[in-house]
Amino acid sequence: SLSRVPRAPPDKVLGLSEHFKKAKNINKVDLTVGIYKDAWGKVTTFPSVAKAQKLIESHFELNNNLSYLPITGSKEFQENVLNFLFKESCPQFGPFYLAHDRISFVQTLSGTGALAVAAKFLALFISRDVWIPDPSWANHKNIFQNNGFENIHHYSYFNDGQIDIDGWIKQLKTFAYNSQPENNKNPPCIILHACCHNPTGLDPTKEQWKEIIDTIYELKMVPIVDMAYQGLESGNLLKDAYLLRLCLDVNRYPNWSNGIFLCQSFAKNMGLYGERVGSLSVITPATANNGNFSPLQQKNALQQNIDSQLKKIVRGMYSSPPGYGSRVVNVVLSDFKLKQQWFKDVDFMVQRLHYVRKEMFDRLGWPDLINFAQQHGMFYYTRFGPKQVEFLRSKYFVYLTGDGRLSLSGVNDSNIDYLCEALEAVSKM
Ligand code: PMP
Repeated sequence: SLSRVPRAPPDKVLGLSEHFKKAKNINKVDLTVGIYKDAWGKVTTFPSVAKAQKLIESHFELNNNLSYLPITGSKEFQENVLNFLFKESCPQFGPFYLAHDRISFVQTLSGTGALAVAAKFLALFISRDVWIPDPSWANHKNIFQNNGFENIHHYSYFNDGQIDIDGWIKQLKTFAYNSQPENNKNPPCIILHACCHNPTGLDPTKEQWKEIIDTIYELKMVPIVDMAYQGLESGNLLKDAYLLRLCLDVNRYPNWSNGIFLCQSFAKNMGLYGERVGSLSVITPATANNGNFSPLQQKNALQQNIDSQLKKIVRGMYSSPPGYGSRVVNVVLSDFKLKQQWFKDVDFMVQRLHYVRKEMFDRLGWPDLINFAQQHGMFYYTRFGPKQVEFLRSKYFVYLTGDGRLSLSGVNDSNIDYLCEALEAVSKM
């Protein structure tokens, strides 16, 4: 009966925002959710997006089509986003995969929806084991558990203030060694934060990524590239797709036999959070032997099967994606000037985040705050324990997430002095 339903814990991030709204203190500072706020603490619309919205408003056909989109999204969105991701972001090898028809694509409910569809597909056909970094975005575990995964493993990502590459690789190799031969039948999946790792803000260097991806490839694991922050590392959208470029390198990795899963989001890099717009690409090896298909069908029969299963999953989950956000993305991506503006908007946002890190560093002198070689994105990982986080909240009304993650975008000239005093005091606890 319904009385058997136990209480689930509140969401670790969104629950805090609710709490913050209710707090009555004029100095209160919300550094919880990863939403970009400008220097005045406002959530603003990117200039490129505002222009796209104006164009849509004034364009009768764009504005008045409230009918359903196709199950996997509009054709136009698919073309624009595939071009952006696989031609512009990955010019060396992306076009090769496109030309060989090796990418199945779904417009999704932002990055979360992409991960959910990917998880459901993988659990049905490939594996129910997934490796998630420790620490990671808390929703990763939730999404994979909710969509059929039985075994959630955590790989060591962070140790003593540093990214733990050796621990990570060693753990994967030990696991693979111990789980032979099943490992080959049900290769585990692995979630990789493409850049701006949440919550640590620490990413492997390009050389370290090569070592990691070499290991994952050797172990026949299935990479799930979670690219929620493309552009927020360097300010350059294209540059930040380096993990995807590496995975697509056919000379280095000719045959990802169980595919590469790219989950991508326009929430952060276009400021379209609530419009829920992103995509899932399932990329299969261009050199794959397509099993029993006849030679005439060979080119994309495998991909057609994948397409059909993705469609079936989406149909049963939410039928079709929302329209408006994807129309905004279409306008931005297909208008040369607007696209240039978007690139500038992203850079502007990242420069402000850099400025905040630098200003906080000047006040606090904590070296890892401005380690731009390694620390990226919207977050600063304070390494404060639960007691310190609680003290910040109750004594100073400064809200971080429970794991000590601080969203830099909530910091501005009007609260930075107060905030740094509070952080300094709490760090001595
Ligand atoms: N992955 C990571 C690591 C994230 O931090 C987020 C956003 N917090 C997402 C995926 C997905 O976000 P969204 O569904 O809003 O695109």
